[in-house]
Amino acid sequence: MASRRFRLGPSTFASDEAKVGLERQQVRLRPPASSPGPRRVSPYDDVTILDAIGHTPLVRLQHLAADARNEVWVKCEHLNPGGSVKDRIALAIVDAAEREGRLAAGSTLVEATAGNTGIGLAIVAALRGYQLVCVMPEKMSVDKRRALRALGAEVVVTDNAPPDDPRNFKHVARRLAAERGALLTDQFNNVANPDVHERTTGVEIWEQMQGRIGAFVAGVGTGGSITGVGRALKARSSTVKVVLADPVGSRLAGLVNDGALGPDGSYLVEGIGSSDVSAVFDPDVVDWAETIDDTLSFDTAEALVRREGLLVGGSAGTSVAAALRVARRDDVDGPVVALLPDGWDRYYTTHFDPAWRQKKGV
Ligand code: PMP
Repeated sequence: MASRRFRLGPSTFASDEAKVGLERQQVRLRPPASSPGPRRVSPYDDVTILDAIGHTPLVRLQHLAADARNEVWVKCEHLNPGGSVKDRIALAIVDAAEREGRLAAGSTLVEATAGNTGIGLAIVAALRGYQLVCVMPEKMSVDKRRALRALGAEVVVTDNAPPDDPRNFKHVARRLAAERGALLTDQFNNVANPDVHERTTGVEIWEQMQGRIGAFVAGVGTGGSITGVGRALKARSSTVKVVLADPVGSRLAGLVNDGALGPDGSYLVEGIGSSDVSAVFDPDVVDWAETIDDTLSFDTAEALVRREGLLVGGSAGTSVAAALRVARRDDVDGPVVALLPDGWDRYYTTHFDPAWRQKKGV
């Protein structure tokens, strides 16, 4: 039988697994999710929305990189079912906890989240029959809080407290999980986070680019995506560069460029940058950091929406602004790939609202 092929990057999906999925189940436009678990390839088997996680398109910027030396491609993680890259880790973390026997029917999950991991976990929890509590710092958009509540999660909002303060969202989540006898899914320390990016996101990027990659650019929240993708790419190429896109005001660029955390400042872009370093972030995988201020991040997100049809949020603006810089460097040889972590729908009341930007002065 001739194989059906879908162009989702510079290459078609060529793996046998993908072909089998596409041949047997013509209603599916993407191969099945890569998280461990039963693969369902027949239209008569159960297929759930969890099977649509991952295998996102990789597309080339058509306008914004026109004057750059190197091409810029973007990995469209905002097209996951929950609208962010975090669907991958939500599924992988729950799969791992189930395999380890740490979850029972009706168990409660607790996560400290900027919002996206919560949305991913809420979807997985709905399908698998768990309860979810999300602990979010006050800084994160109201849109994300509303989404989580609409998904049935309990949302606990904390002060924007520094990492050593007991009111910090990570500490509050840990305490709540202990009090309620719930599972702390713990994206900041859970190896299932970088591992799923190494096994899926990184391998997809390598295959979609057919190994032609000069540099990979991403921001760091937990560091799971840059660490996992960076490891997968560096295991396959000795020349690929991995670049951190860090908000001005985050301490992480200092760690990567100077070997010591930089000064702690404030910034408005959500989900990336940090005043501490998560256990899952491996700075050794990163070659250097580019720093991007809020105005450039938000302007770039707006340009991605209006000029490229990529309906993404502010941290995608940060990573593409950095990627455009990287693509102009003489010492980068080959296409630059940037990660688009989430969609614009969670920022309607923040940086996609001109009045909000004016009020904040960015
Ligand atoms: N962008 C956004 C909007 C996020 O919510 C996150 C995760 N907090 C990231 C980027 C960074 O992803 P990671 O945790 O894999 O470093």
